[in-house]
Amino acid sequence: MRLAVPKERRPGEARVAATPETVKKLRGLGLTIVVESGAGAGAAIPDAEYLAAGAELAPDPATTFADANIVFCVQAPLGPGEGEIDQLSLIPRGALLIGGLNIWSDPKRAEAYAQRGIDACAMELLPRITRAQSMDILSSQANLAGYRAVIEAAMEYPRAFPMMMTAAGTVAPAAVFVIGAGVAGLQAIATARRLGAKVSATDVRPAAKEEIKSLGATFVGVETEETKQAQTAGGYAKEMSEDFKRRQAELMAETVKKQDVIICTALTMGRAAPKIITAEMVASMKPGSVIVDIAADAGGNCVLTRPGERVVTENGVSILGWRNWPARIPVAASALYARNLLTFLTAFWDKEAKAPKLDANDEIVRGVLLTRGGAVVHPQFAPKPAEAA
Ligand code: NAD
Repeated sequence: MRLAVPKERRPGEARVAATPETVKKLRGLGLTIVVESGAGAGAAIPDAEYLAAGAELAPDPATTFADANIVFCVQAPLGPGEGEIDQLSLIPRGALLIGGLNIWSDPKRAEAYAQRGIDACAMELLPRITRAQSMDILSSQANLAGYRAVIEAAMEYPRAFPMMMTAAGTVAPAAVFVIGAGVAGLQAIATARRLGAKVSATDVRPAAKEEIKSLGATFVGVETEETKQAQTAGGYAKEMSEDFKRRQAELMAETVKKQDVIICTALTMGRAAPKIITAEMVASMKPGSVIVDIAADAGGNCVLTRPGERVVTENGVSILGWRNWPARIPVAASALYARNLLTFLTAFWDKEAKAPKLDANDEIVRGVLLTRGGAVVHPQFAPKPAEAA
């Protein structure tokens, strides 16, 4: 069996779906690994390291995908008209595609995979259960994104994070406010605390309050009957009511104006990011304040965020709306991402047959499997009966 690791071709993507470490382990399963030349360049992995780990190097996309049985990717391969080449057309029928497939941003992709006879596993759909934690690409990448957001905020911030008592006087600690205390937000809190900032945070899920406090930050949030039910069975936040949004906005207006740095991480799975910081709130902030919006890929939590850009407002507030924060720390992100995919494949590997065995009754497989045997099989993305007719 051949497993292909293409060079990622979506703009700004610096990560790679396998590292020399995982290549060695994948070979141990009995696989031949083919890595496209330059695939690791953005993650500081030269071709020679893949060769030393026992991978074959392919000079171009066509050779990479030729006869591939399995394809690992970080983002959905480019389809027709999406970029410099059509990667999808090069993937052989019957191949198993595993990676983050950005399926929420373009649900039609599922049909394209089915038509091309590609069995696709969208790893962003992985259920949030204990057994799946080590395969969870959203967690591994969000954790690093949360760290990186604080580091970039500290660079952008024209003052200091920790309190400093010097002979020339005292420097006050930065007030950092984290919006959304999921995986990224909790890491942002921990990182800002390590840098010596005074940290507070908000979230809608009831469990988040204790997690915020356990990291030494102050919880600021609206607590109502609705927030007691704000978490879905899958562990994600629900979209909140208009009444909640109004109350949250009042509290945010009071809170935001006192902050030096705000890290936005609030998301609701599969939907646009909730808009939490208004233009008026930004106008109330001091010059030199910084907002880092890592929810930018989903539109951002701040109305003034421009996804992919750095904006400086009239009152001197910088808003960093870069996309794809995990790709801004590509070496660590690739290492963890590659291990997530390795763990997934190993868990569903038939050692006798030396081939993947995706049992459709398994909760993890049911969660991620988008297409199989030419059909869209995932209940959320399968055509509705009327469309199918
Ligand atoms: P996420 O990226 O979907 O959202 C980030 C955070 O934003 C969440 O904490 C969410 O509650 C919060 N949020 C959403 N709307 C908000 C609003 N209007 N105002 C304020 N905050 C808002 O979440 P995530 O980081 O992927 O984590 C979601 C949950 O899943 C967490 O409870 C996490 O601990 C859990 N989790 C479990 C596992 C596992 O058991 N395998 C793995 C990863 C995460």
